[in-house]
Amino acid sequence: MIKVESATRRYGQLTAVDRVSFEVNKNEIVGFVGPNGAGKSTMLKMLSTFIHPTEGRVLIDDLDAVEHPLAVRRRIGYLAGDTPLYQEMRVEKFLRFIARARGLEGEALEDGLATAIDLCGLAPVLKQRVKECSTGFRQRIGLATALVHDPPILLLDEPTHGFDPMQVIAFRDTLRSLRDDRAILFSTHIIGDVEALSDRVLIIHHGRLLGDGRVEDLAREAGIPGADLEEVFAHLVRTTAPAHV
Ligand code: ADP
Ligand code: MG
Repeated sequence: MIKVESATRRYGQLTAVDRVSFEVNKNEIVGFVGPNGAGKSTMLKMLSTFIHPTEGRVLIDDLDAVEHPLAVRRRIGYLAGDTPLYQEMRVEKFLRFIARARGLEGEALEDGLATAIDLCGLAPVLKQRVKECSTGFRQRIGLATALVHDPPILLLDEPTHGFDPMQVIAFRDTLRSLRDDRAILFSTHIIGDVEALSDRVLIIHHGRLLGDGRVEDLAREAGIPGADLEEVFAHLVRTTAPAHV
C-alpha cells in the first residue's frame, strides 16, 4: 500500500532523505524511528504529497504521489507534527468542518465523524473550544482529522507527542484497533512506542535507512541476538559510515 523507491529529498546542500526504499503493507503497523533531524517528517511529507522527492518515487496504492496527489490524499490520513487547528472553534464543529472539506456529506459524514470521535475518545470535549483542550486532547483532535474519511493508510508524525503516560496507553490501544485492513506508518523518537506497537521498524539516521525489519531479526543480523531496539539502533549508527552531504 505504501511503497518508497529510492526517495531522496534535498534542501539546498542538505540531503534530508537519502535514497530510502521500503514498503508498508495492509494490516501492518510500522514504526519509523530515528533522532530529531533524521528525516522522518520529510519522508512522511513526501508520502502525503506536501513535498516532492528530489529523486526517486513514493507510491500510495501504486499511485505516484507527485502525479496523482488528489487520489493519494483521499487514501491517506496524515497527522502532521504541527497540524493547524482552529483554536476558536468548538471541537465538534471543527471536525465537521474538516469532514466537509474532505468532501464528505450526509450519512458518510455522520458515520465518519462518529467513528473518529469514538476512536479518539473525544466525546468529553466536543462542546469545548479547541484552545481550551489540553495538549493530549489537541493531539487526539489532530488524529481525528486524519481518520474522518476512513482512509486505508495512516501516516502519523510523532502521534504521541505531548501525551501523558495514560494517554500514551490509550493511544496505543486506538492504533491497534485501527490496524485491521489498514497500513499504518508512524514516526517517533520514543523507543517505547515502537516496542509496544510496531510489527516492524524502519531505522533512519541522517536521512539514511539503516534497518528495516523486526527488532529480533535486526538484532540477530547485527550479531547481537536478544538486543533491544536501543542497542540495535546504537549498533547500526556506529557501524554505518557517515552520510555524505
Ligand atoms: P525529523 O522529523 O526526523 O526530526 P526532519 O525530516 O524534520 O527530521 O528534518 C530532516 C533534516 O532536514 C533536518 O536537518 C532539518 O533541519 C532539515 N529540514 C527539514 N525541513 C526543512 C526545510 N523546509 N528547509 C530546510 N531544511 C529542512
Ligand atoms: Mg519530525
